[in-house]
Amino acid sequence: MCKNMPPLELAIQFHGHVCPGLLFGVRVAEFAQHKLGVDVDKDEELLAVVENDSCAVDAVQSILGCTFGKGNLIFRDYGKQVYTIASRESGRAVRIAQIFGSMDGPEFRRFSQLKSLTCLSPQEENELEELLSVLFELIMSKPVDELFKWQETEMPEVEKATIMPSIECQICGEGVMQSRASTTDRGLVCPTCRLECEVDFNV
Ligand SMILES: [Zn+2]
Ligand SMILES: [Zn+2]
Repeated sequence: MCKNMPPLELAIQFHGHVCPGLLFGVRVAEFAQHKLGVDVDKDEELLAVVENDSCAVDAVQSILGCTFGKGNLIFRDYGKQVYTIASRESGRAVRIAQIFGSMDGPEFRRFSQLKSLTCLSPQEENELEELLSVLFELIMSKPVDELFKWQETEMPEVEKATIMPSIECQICGEGVMQSRASTTDRGLVCPTCRLECEVDFNV
């Protein structure tokens, strides 16, 4: 991805499409950058704790560089539009929570309704396009304070990612991170084999 690409473009390229959720994520990521005085993460200077796995998280990954692979994107499966972004360099963190209903409205409801259909007529396709541009304007121009609540908060307690050694699973022969292997009557086994094969843990 091009480093000089504007944040919105970065997010769209990464996510593959434009949608209201992604746009909300763009607002979150840009606000966090502004509040914390940071740019894009290179090597875990930033940390993001996200409380959902919606489209918005892809904006956090692409704009802030907090990614699943680097281990500085922490997913808490709470089903909440809440994002805590932290700078390890300054020790500052900001918690951003969507105001309930701030994305709601007739356009959004109609958009979601059309999105849930499996097959759209050409008219509905057009309507969807138009709704998307209306929502684009709405979400991108809405004052921050109408979109989400935010507050400075404590640094989330998350260790930096560590690389753990792998061992060979005694059933499938594939490598598995040591900390994920279980001791069984067949020796150390990976989670897949532990679930799929009958193994006895009482050894
Ligand atoms: Zn999306
Ligand atoms: Zn195995």
